[in-house]
Amino acid sequence: MKIGVIGTGYVGLVTGTCLAALGHEVVCVDALPQKIGLLNDGGCPIYEPGLVELIRTQRQAGRLTFSTEIAESVSDRDALFIAVGTPPGPDGEADLSYIRAAAADLAPHLAGFTAVITKSTVPVGTGDQIEALLADLRPDADLAVVSNPEFLREGSAIGDFMKPDRIVVGTDDLRARELMRAIYAPLTDAGAPLVLTDRRTSELIKYAANAFLAVKISYINEIADLCEELGADAVRVAEGMGLDARIGARFLDPGPGFGGSCFPKDTDALLSTGRAAAVPLRVVTAASEANRERKRLLAARVAAVAGDLKGRTVAVLGLTFKAGTDDMREAASLELIPELQRRGAHVRTFDPKGMEAARGLLPGVRFCRDAYDAARGASAVVILTEWGAFRSLDLKRLAKVAETPLLIDLRNLFDPDEVTRAGLDYVSIGRPAAAARDVGEERTLGAARSARAAA
Ligand code: NAD
Repeated sequence: MKIGVIGTGYVGLVTGTCLAALGHEVVCVDALPQKIGLLNDGGCPIYEPGLVELIRTQRQAGRLTFSTEIAESVSDRDALFIAVGTPPGPDGEADLSYIRAAAADLAPHLAGFTAVITKSTVPVGTGDQIEALLADLRPDADLAVVSNPEFLREGSAIGDFMKPDRIVVGTDDLRARELMRAIYAPLTDAGAPLVLTDRRTSELIKYAANAFLAVKISYINEIADLCEELGADAVRVAEGMGLDARIGARFLDPGPGFGGSCFPKDTDALLSTGRAAAVPLRVVTAASEANRERKRLLAARVAAVAGDLKGRTVAVLGLTFKAGTDDMREAASLELIPELQRRGAHVRTFDPKGMEAARGLLPGVRFCRDAYDAARGASAVVILTEWGAFRSLDLKRLAKVAETPLLIDLRNLFDPDEVTRAGLDYVSIGRPAAAARDVGEERTLGAARSARAAA
């Protein structure tokens, strides 16, 4: 199958590369010449585990090319995937200007039957809009507009694409259905379920799924707050809940609140859709509000444990919104760090992959060569991103370089005993604080309560 992918970002690049790995002939197009130049030079504009290697093998096999030229990338293709951004508009609604621009760009070059497929996350009815736009620009074109939302997660994107929980395809066009079946045959033959439905349903599946996950996160985060008040252990609560097959253990890790380029924007976009349809989405509203508030209070949480931050140093370990990516969009660090600075703290930081992207976003921060360097002279060391490398930190060394041996772990990476044995006071999320020294216990126990009271 000959495939074009328009938009070579986190989703488009992974989609294009993986489709090539499935045996298709793929050209990935992007409006940014520097991105395409880098890819053509053998580089990669994003960090995603395994991606550089897969791009290399697919290019060598002659199945994957990169271009800025939409014309030559469209005319001979059976399928065109649109994978451009759909960022939030002023009222939380999805900004579809990039989608419309991509559709307008490809329209003049359509030839023969083509499936125009939205990979981007788009609100219900966007497929209808694209169809109308293309009909207007190219009334003669033979095409079907298909919805095929993407569910990959940054950090495990290749595995997610190649072994998806499901593939969702929305179209009533029979030729497009057959074409989509053929594109994904290697995955469905290997057992991936295919959900074939109408376009509007397909568009909504993506938002309904993301909003549900957002609800799950906000739910466990609030349960964790309650655990802090009541002296219960949220990790064990989550374990006890998650063993119930109706609930499931995944996405029950309390933490600093959800970020990234999907959950915050997709919940807001769904709420906007609900408003437009006059259907109140109270549960999603609450999840979104709880998350915003949680991220806003992160610095207060730190101050409640570490005390007045004026003139003191705080080390922040991890900047990206999650581990396994360099993506800084809606990262909790962008809320926490400026607020720490506003409270007078000097912030030192380290992130294994995110520092380049973070530099321009976090003025006044000292970017350090590793976690120990970041912790030097710190009154508190805060773990913000769940990087695997942080799990194997030498905690004794951390305790030695810090001015105050206090670890505030917003990802629950450690067993409290292990941390206190290394000589650090330990405050995590939804678990009783653990003191290396007597003074620690009293100072840390009421952390969450004081953070909320102070807000
Ligand atoms: P991104 O910003 O990383 O990539 C978008 C790319 O499209 C950019 O490289 C941009 O230059 C390019 N582009 C914009 N307009 C163009 C045009 N007219 N022609 C050619 N290229 C153009 O975005 P992303 O994270 O890959 O997300 C893309 C879509 O996929 C969004 O709708 C998002 O919600 C959805 N999605 C993202 C993820 C994720 O984890 N990032 C997961 C599932 C779905």
